[in-house]
Amino acid sequence: MSWRALAVGAAGAWVAYAWGAHLFTAQCVRRGDARAPRIALTFDDGPDPVWTPRVLDLLAARDVRASFFVVGERAARAPDVVRSIARAGHDVGSHGWSHKSLWLAGPRATAVEIGRTHAFLSDLLGREPRHFRPPWGMVNLAMFPLLRRLGLSCVLWSIQPEGLRPVGPLEQSRYVVGHAHAGAIVDLHDAEGTPRAPERLSAALPQMTDGLRDAGWELTTLGELLGHGPRDRGKWGASKGPRRPPRSGAPRGTRGAPRFCARPGSPT
Ligand SMILES: [Zn+2]
Repeated sequence: MSWRALAVGAAGAWVAYAWGAHLFTAQCVRRGDARAPRIALTFDDGPDPVWTPRVLDLLAARDVRASFFVVGERAARAPDVVRSIARAGHDVGSHGWSHKSLWLAGPRATAVEIGRTHAFLSDLLGREPRHFRPPWGMVNLAMFPLLRRLGLSCVLWSIQPEGLRPVGPLEQSRYVVGHAHAGAIVDLHDAEGTPRAPERLSAALPQMTDGLRDAGWELTTLGELLGHGPRDRGKWGASKGPRRPPRSGAPRGTRGAPRFCARPGSPT
């Protein structure tokens, strides 16, 4: 077999592993129940020791509960911030260990990205995450069976006010309010994203939440939007490691069929 044939074969295998996996993203959640006037705000890429607490304060001031997709290695550097998220009644989901694109991760690396974050968050919070959002919205064929085994649902989004380009706070809040729909999942960033994304998000958040509520939308967690109930480690025990009781005020957990959605190239 020629080198050229080998190269073509390897490229074909990668296309099937990475791009082909997107054929299965119909299994993933992009929105909740379209009959109820509820919307879930989701925050990616944290925890950030500066911006995440500010976002938590903004949400607390308006009695809004939301969902945070945290990056494992950042959570390990700021565990108290993750505990604060949970104590405030927000959902904590997994966004992988290092925010590595799953397009660039083989089966073993994919298992580390997802499994290590799952175990860490389960130990830290005393209950297992129920939602996983793949970094950049990119999936591979190894991801789906892993998520099924861990009881994780794939969650993408239906509204993203800021993609690859910076968008001002006023435009972001107008975009979200203008595109709001029943069961919407809004993708926001309390860390990373495009340059200074958390700063713009923090400036947009008050007007965004007020605007949504004024329009009659109830803001809730992903667990409640998707009808996923709590699952603490003591009851389910899928992960190994020390068991800890759920902390009082810990997030209402989540439950449900695995689903995932992707929009390759989006900064999530
Ligand atoms: Zn991300």
